[in-house]
Amino acid sequence: MKVYLDNNATTIVDPAVFSEMEPYFVQRYGNPNSLHLFASETHPAIKDGMEKIYAGIHAPREDSVIITSCATESNNWVLKSIYFEYILTGKKNHIMVSEVEHPSVIATAKFIESMGAKVTYLPINHEGIIDPQTVRDNITENTALVSIMWANNETGAIFPIAEIGDICEEHNVLFHTDAVQAIGKTPVDVQAINVDYLTFSAHKFHGPKGVGALYVKKGKELIPLLHGGAQMGGYRSGTLNVPGIVGMGKAMEQAIDALEFEMTEVREMRDAFEDELLKIEDTFVVTPREKRTPNTILISFRGIEGESMLWDLNRAGIGASTGSACASEDLEANSVMEAIGAAEDLAHTAIRFSLSRYTTQEELDYTLETVKEAVKRLRGISSSYAYAPEGHKSGLDSHHH
Ligand code: PLP
Repeated sequence: MKVYLDNNATTIVDPAVFSEMEPYFVQRYGNPNSLHLFASETHPAIKDGMEKIYAGIHAPREDSVIITSCATESNNWVLKSIYFEYILTGKKNHIMVSEVEHPSVIATAKFIESMGAKVTYLPINHEGIIDPQTVRDNITENTALVSIMWANNETGAIFPIAEIGDICEEHNVLFHTDAVQAIGKTPVDVQAINVDYLTFSAHKFHGPKGVGALYVKKGKELIPLLHGGAQMGGYRSGTLNVPGIVGMGKAMEQAIDALEFEMTEVREMRDAFEDELLKIEDTFVVTPREKRTPNTILISFRGIEGESMLWDLNRAGIGASTGSACASEDLEANSVMEAIGAAEDLAHTAIRFSLSRYTTQEELDYTLETVKEAVKRLRGISSSYAYAPEGHKSGLDSHHH
């Protein structure tokens, strides 16, 4: 059996999305900016795709949604734009990000810091969530931007974005949120909260890879990152990714249709699976489930290296993660576990299971059995599992003597 439980890294493309995209590769392949029939054939699809994307985040027509190549680009863009607009010009010199942002925010913040910006990395609390008060406490008159994610990719923790938006508004500070992990999992409405910039990415909600977006509220400054043929209103040059726009539009429509299902059925399956996992001794989950996206579990098995567990799961055909996909190839501790100050013996033990609307009960049953076997095997050979049930403890003792 093959089981995919790494949906926070990427998702399967919804077949309905794929079939809508297909004609725009081999039939209607014109450059939308050309002045002939091949171009005009693409225009209705672009309009339709963009309308679905606007509708998905409830963006009014007067605001901009700019299609990018990925969320990494959108995140880079906002921070670098603020650098050019505020920091380089000397208008303001300070930005704030949470310490658990995706690397595409953290690494960009570090880069602009090296260019002279002052950056505050805001801590998370013991539940893996940012307290809005820390935003308020750290705002100064020199703060140009606050960038805080809507939902965390590793824990699924949903951050208090509405309150943070209000605080920023009150202090006349621009607010960006990385909503990559929020779309399709929790309602995202740019008119319901104070937000100036919002990032998302199609491949996280059953759309194609290589298509991201940046929402920008009317009147909020943005420096073009890519200069050239002035596509996307001059904000982002480069021939439009027609199949990508079609695919993101359809994926957004499907995600909105499936939102209720995610928030009820997927959540119930996740909760039941988590209940069973937590019956295994010495297991821990950081963020309370009601404060999480419905599909995510980050769970620690004391005494077991996350990578060892992944290996056992992988051999059984199960794809999970130790945290962000970017960290999957090294043996660093999970960054959220480090940020909450998890004891050293737990920091390396986190495994992330992320479900989707395609996950089945049968897959979760099989995964649970596999996890139980892996825990038994790995704790049996673990020298660090000194907190073990009685049998293991005596085994350890005799080993030491
Ligand atoms: N932001 C978050 C919270 C993510 O989880 C990811 C995915 O890894 C990204 C940004 C980057 O997305 P993309 O692959 O579209 O660049």
